Amino acid sequence: MEIIIGKTAGFCFGVANAVNKTQELLKEKKYMYCLGELVHNKQVTEELKEKGLNIINNVEEAKQNVIIRAHGEPQETYDLANKLNINIFDLTCPKVLKIHNIAKEYSNKGFYILLVGAKNHPEIIGTIGYCGKNATIIEKKEDTKEKMQEFYNSNIKKLLVIAQTTYSIKDFSDISDEIKKSIQGRNITLEIKNTICNATKLRQEETKELARKVECMIIVGGKNSSNTNKLFNIAKTYCKNSLLVETREEINVNDIKKLNKIGIMAGASTPKKSIDAIVELLQSI
Ligand code: SF4
Repeated sequence: MEIIIGKTAGFCFGVANAVNKTQELLKEKKYMYCLGELVHNKQVTEELKEKGLNIINNVEEAKQNVIIRAHGEPQETYDLANKLNINIFDLTCPKVLKIHNIAKEYSNKGFYILLVGAKNHPEIIGTIGYCGKNATIIEKKEDTKEKMQEFYNSNIKKLLVIAQTTYSIKDFSDISDEIKKSIQGRNITLEIKNTICNATKLRQEETKELARKVECMIIVGGKNSSNTNKLFNIAKTYCKNSLLVETREEINVNDIKKLNKIGIMAGASTPKKSIDAIVELLQSI
C-alpha cells in the first residue's frame, strides 16, 4: 500500500507558535487561563489542560494571566482585561492581526465591510469587532444577494470584502464574482482583499491534488475545526472515498486494507503525533 502524506499537513505557523508559547508559559506561571480552547483539537486541548491550562469563556474568570489564542479577540476583550488588571499574553496569529488592521483602516475610511466567514467562529467574532457598525457577515454564497441588499440600504458607496483566514478559496472566489456582478451599473467603489492565509491556500490546493490521485483520502483533525472540515469537503469532491477522523481508532481497517494508494492530509490544528499514529496503522496493514 502506498501512503502519501500531504507536505502541508498539520500545525500551521500560527498554531505552532500558540502551542509552543503556551507550553513555555505553563512552565513559568502558576495560573494560566485561555479564552476558549487554544486550538480546535481535543487531543491538544486535553494535553494542555493536564499541564495546567484553564479554559475559560469570559475574561473575568481569568485570575491573573490570560492567553489570547491565534484566532484573536475583539478590542473589548483587551479593554476589559486591562480594566481588571489581568496580564494579557497575546498569541493572535500575525495574519489575523493584519486583517484586524485592514478592517480598522477601511472602517475609518468610511467603507462598508462584508466579512466572509462563519459567524460563530471565534476568528470572525474577533474580526467583526474591528469592522465598525457598517459591516455584515456572509457565511455562504446563497446569502450574498441578501447581504448586498443590506449594503445598498446603508447608502454607503464604498465596499470592502475580506475573508476568514481559513475560508474556502473557491467559495470566496464565487462570492467575490457575485458581488462584482451585483455592483455593475452602480456607482460603488469596491475593494476585494483575499485575506485567506497562505497556509490555508496551500493546504487546500494540496488536498485537491492529492485527492485526485488516491483511492482513499484520510483527513485528520478536530471535527469542530473549521479548516479541517473545509479540507474534508474538498477531499470528498475529488475522492468519494474520503474519511474525516480525529484518531486512528475511527478507521475501519477492513474498509481500506485492499486499497493500493491512500492520501493523508491534516488540518492546521492537528498535532504531528495524530498524523504519525494514522501512518503507523496504515503501515501495519
Ligand atoms: S491558519 Fe493561517 S491565519 Fe490561522 S493560525 Fe494558521 S497561519 Fe495563522
